[in-house]
Amino acid sequence: MDFREIEKKWRKRWEEEKIFESNLDNREKFFVNVAYPYVNGYGHLGHLFTFLRTEILARFKRMQGYNVLFPQGFHATGQPIVAAAKRIKEKEEKQIKILKDMGIPEKDIDKFSDVNYWIEYFPEKWKEDLKNLGFSIDWRRSFITTEANKPYDSFVKWQFMKLKEKNLIYKGSHPVIFCEKCGFPIGDHDRVEGEGVVPEEVILLKFELGKIKLPVMTYRPETIYGVTNLWINPDENYVQAKVSDEEWIVSKEMVENLKRQNFEVNEIKEVKGFEFIKKKVLNPVTKKEIIILPASFVDIKVGSGIVMSVPAHAPFDYAGIKELRENKELREKYGLKEEDINFDFISLIKLKEFGKYPAVELVEKTGIKSLKEKNKLEKATKELYKKEFHSGILKIKEFEGKKVSEVKNELSEKFIKEGIGVRYFVLPEKVICRCLNEGVIKIVKDQWFINYNNKDLKKKAHELVDKMKFYPPEIRDNFHYTIDWLKDWACTRDKKTSIGTTLPFDETQVIESLSDSTLYMAYYTISHYLQDGKLKSDKILNEEFFDYVFLGKGDIDKVSKSNNIAPSTLKKMREDFLYWYKNGFQVRNSGKDLIQNHLTFCILNHVAIFHKENLPTGISVNGHVMLNGEKMSKSKGNVVFIKDAIKDYPADILRFIVAYAGTAGLDDANIELKKSKSIEAKLKRFYEFAISDHKTREEYKTIDKWFESVMNRTMKKVYESYENLEIKSVLQIGFFELQNYFKWYKRRAIDYNKKLLSKFIEVQTKILAPITPFLCEEIWEKTGNKGFISLSKLPKVDEEKIDEIAEKKEKIISNLLNDVKVVIDLTKIKPNKIKIVVPEEWKYRLFYKLEKKLKETKNFGELMKEAMKFEEGRKKPKEIQRLIKRILSSGIDVFYQNEEKLLKENKEFFEKEFNCKIEITKEQVKESWPGKFGIVVE
Ligand SMILES: [Zn+2]
Repeated sequence: MDFREIEKKWRKRWEEEKIFESNLDNREKFFVNVAYPYVNGYGHLGHLFTFLRTEILARFKRMQGYNVLFPQGFHATGQPIVAAAKRIKEKEEKQIKILKDMGIPEKDIDKFSDVNYWIEYFPEKWKEDLKNLGFSIDWRRSFITTEANKPYDSFVKWQFMKLKEKNLIYKGSHPVIFCEKCGFPIGDHDRVEGEGVVPEEVILLKFELGKIKLPVMTYRPETIYGVTNLWINPDENYVQAKVSDEEWIVSKEMVENLKRQNFEVNEIKEVKGFEFIKKKVLNPVTKKEIIILPASFVDIKVGSGIVMSVPAHAPFDYAGIKELRENKELREKYGLKEEDINFDFISLIKLKEFGKYPAVELVEKTGIKSLKEKNKLEKATKELYKKEFHSGILKIKEFEGKKVSEVKNELSEKFIKEGIGVRYFVLPEKVICRCLNEGVIKIVKDQWFINYNNKDLKKKAHELVDKMKFYPPEIRDNFHYTIDWLKDWACTRDKKTSIGTTLPFDETQVIESLSDSTLYMAYYTISHYLQDGKLKSDKILNEEFFDYVFLGKGDIDKVSKSNNIAPSTLKKMREDFLYWYKNGFQVRNSGKDLIQNHLTFCILNHVAIFHKENLPTGISVNGHVMLNGEKMSKSKGNVVFIKDAIKDYPADILRFIVAYAGTAGLDDANIELKKSKSIEAKLKRFYEFAISDHKTREEYKTIDKWFESVMNRTMKKVYESYENLEIKSVLQIGFFELQNYFKWYKRRAIDYNKKLLSKFIEVQTKILAPITPFLCEEIWEKTGNKGFISLSKLPKVDEEKIDEIAEKKEKIISNLLNDVKVVIDLTKIKPNKIKIVVPEEWKYRLFYKLEKKLKETKNFGELMKEAMKFEEGRKKPKEIQRLIKRILSSGIDVFYQNEEKLLKENKEFFEKEFNCKIEITKEQVKESWPGKFGIVVE
């Protein structure tokens, strides 16, 4: 057989008979989809892993009898394609090399200087790849984003009109993470590092040095009540600057940050850190005078480069003061006297397991000797901060008895109102733009935002998340978390740098790439009417059109006239939408990194715009993908494109290997291409077997009962695995394990029960069909079936055929077979006779007792006690000891009440296997236990 020939044949037939085109009928529908790919290149094996999960689920659900919708669109919105095209135009070598490495011929490279060429070229290549792989997609519904495709463009415009109507979009100033080189806010999609990082609000508290202010940044405004001194880095340069109508001392870095955050800043002069040592400043809240002390641990890049010192509650501060107190030389260097640092610490926060000064206790307890133990100090700081924030009780007068977490925001607001503090934003982690420039915080003016911070919207989104199904289930919490934490989202970009849909109420802006991708699953339900199977169309649609189709609003005749679409067609579209989008989509699959943006936005936009009955049902994510145990990356040069892999491996084999790469959940998957040869051989062997004639019988034997039982059990487990998108388990249980069962059946049965054999071939083929569909279609046809296996129904599990006793008995036989082999190997005897010693009756009674007892305890003594209750056991304490030890280390063996009868019935099988006489005896020549018989080889 030739995999390639089979592929070609079935691809052609599927296309001719349009079996994956989904139309409305009276079956229940199931809508699966996968995030559309960004088309600035070919798809690679990492993409394939994510896409294949969806494809396999679509095929499985179809075989369960659902009317499945599986469409696929393509995404081109945003800046990367624009930038890449520009670089090609400028003949930039790096960009040319990227295209060449992909396999684009030299003569075609110039064409990529046109943005539109990318949008024409790559979606077609993606389609080709997925078609070659046999994806069961309804290709009539595909489309491309951006204004190149007018109906989709109209759809995105409509969506933003709806958001505006609901007051969920506004123009304002807001802190965003910004790339100064690119000139726009960088969303998650624009970052190579720092995905999910958002600006964090902190407060600058202004200490007073006469008329000059020393702003100090803090995450913990409550600690201002416990400040004993300020820290400044004596070796660094600072800036004296006019900020609005005040004079501030801050680090150089902060000057730039302040400007980006819209402070009016004018630098006056540079000053040295050491100039401020020993000076006294006024705490603006407590009005107490405190001293400025030197600290080399102060990082000039953090905040203003000047830090509050709260030794009672901050490990670094305590360690710093300890050092100054203990190190005379250091004191003398800065002209400090002992009395300068003899102040008392101020205890602010009561914490259960600590005394007055938690930071002091923690530093002493963890044995931190000096400031040099930075990691330990950082760890202690984090630990204490967390504890004090969540369970610390304040001792400050005004807030006595309150928790830190309760008053933190209140305090900040109070200080800001009183002019003591100023709101400021920091980056909690580094963010790197796609252009490799480091992102900064900028408060942008006149930026459009979607108001994801809206309380009502968040509430509705939480309610939906509570109802949805998630794969794996634990990601539900991630969605709740993201919804809570999400702030307003900068949703547009300057039209000069980016492509996409123009914001309907601001011609200078295009909608950015995450914001135009939140509702498009609904668009699939009608896209084939609008685009006639092409990726783009010129048909412009108005708001009323989408109001009618998606929301059931408006007058059909008016909508018909203003959009030039027949009322009958409009009606059909509305019907299609209601059918396919009942409870939205059932499963949407993507990589786990999209939870914190795209997938949460999808939920939020659905609850903002759609009716309750059209909200989505399920979301699935998968982990990252490795190739042959290594992370796939351009720099490592180990990115394998689908188009190249499909040349090296038949589609079914590639699908099998990729499907087998990942267990369920968020763990990384690992695609092992080296397994292809053995997989190919195994599949081929099954194919040959399935289509050949075999000697069969009508008679139903004991072993048939066993095989029927394990087959049904396997089906049950496999269907569950499919339902949970645990595709690797499907193959482990439904192929490797089932094949092993069959091997055993063959060995035991010699010839097959006729019905059972054809049942096995059907079950195995159908279990495999969603994963290796070409091969399975071929087997289906060659074994005399009509129609397509892709459209056939999965065999039903017959629970009544699952027979635990039959499976137990067979397990005893196979265990004994292995045990005898081990004995023969050890003794190196070619046996003339094998004696199998059946245990005495009381041992079975003992085993039932132990089996029960083991559920309560794994204690050796207690198990011994149980065994010693037997008179016979008391006679052989050593034997019993060995038994209990064995059971405790490897579990109780599978055993069965009537083993003697079982062994006698299967005597012939063993005689054939070992080609010698078998004697089943009770004569006690060797230790023998239920399920673990004594074996004597002669
Ligand atoms: Zn950039």
